Amino acid sequence: KFISIEGIEGAGKSTQMRFIQSFLEHQGKTVVVTREPGGTVLGEQIRELLLTPRDEGMSHDAELLLMFAARAEHLEQVIKPALSRGDWVLSDRFVDATFAYQGGGRGIDIKRIESISDWTLQAIHTDLTLLFDLPVAVGQERVIKRSQDKDRFEQEKGVFFEKIRQCYLQRADHEPDRIKKIDAGQTIENIQHQVTTALMALL
Ligand code: C5P
Repeated sequence: KFISIEGIEGAGKSTQMRFIQSFLEHQGKTVVVTREPGGTVLGEQIRELLLTPRDEGMSHDAELLLMFAARAEHLEQVIKPALSRGDWVLSDRFVDATFAYQGGGRGIDIKRIESISDWTLQAIHTDLTLLFDLPVAVGQERVIKRSQDKDRFEQEKGVFFEKIRQCYLQRADHEPDRIKKIDAGQTIENIQHQVTTALMALL
């Protein structure tokens, strides 16, 4: 099975990744833990290109295509081989992030993203996507506490993340079976309870 984790900055994805990995391993699953952009040598190099702040900026289309270049490599090198071995794949972000960030956030036409997505992913899709949702201001506060050096995305303003959050929520409404919304503003125990419920339904 293929699981991805999504959410805006500060939604607590990293903590939940560790929880989900150990939960699945306790259930006897072999779990390949990975992330996007990244997950391969080339993908991590592309991640650097994407995250490094640059004076001249980056065109939205270049950003979109770099995300898909990293993803194509990730699919070939990591995701498809793992799924064909029967392993579970747990990815910190997948294609929903591109619809939310480059579509919702940057304003690229969703139809264009869909066509690149169909072309790159073929029949691959997540079995479960956990959307860690919380108000933008709460997420921003957590990010400020965490890091001084902001990456190219973290430097964006609150309105950018508001558009991303709304896009994620719309996708979750459209595909409620695949995308489960988790209220990430709750206590850790409560969040883990919501996550466990979603995972049990898949097991
Ligand atoms: O998940 P993580 O915070 O490590 O992602 C790194 C950065 O890449 C984030 O700031 C995220 O907003 C950005 N990103 C993006 N579009 C994607 C995936 C990630 O803008 N499709």
